[in-house]
Amino acid sequence: MPSMTTSKVSRWDQHGREHVVHVQKSGMQRALTCDTCGWRKATQFLPWLKAEEHLADAHQATVDPGAGTGAASGPGGR
Ligand SMILES: [Zn+2]
Repeated sequence: MPSMTTSKVSRWDQHGREHVVHVQKSGMQRALTCDTCGWRKATQFLPWLKAEEHLADAHQATVDPGAGTGAASGPGGR
């Protein structure tokens, strides 16, 4: 099966660990599943936003790995 109906949102926490929420199309809704804790949620709108909220709330994972590391806090901790 092509994976065009599946996507994911990944964020890193302050320790540099990656947390991934998978977004799977399920009829009219999107089913969200968190790899880290098994959290699941079905939502009709803005699944990526819900995924980001979960990652931030449950795992303090707010670092977008695709956003570059120019900003203030990196895992360097010099
Ligand atoms: Zn989770």
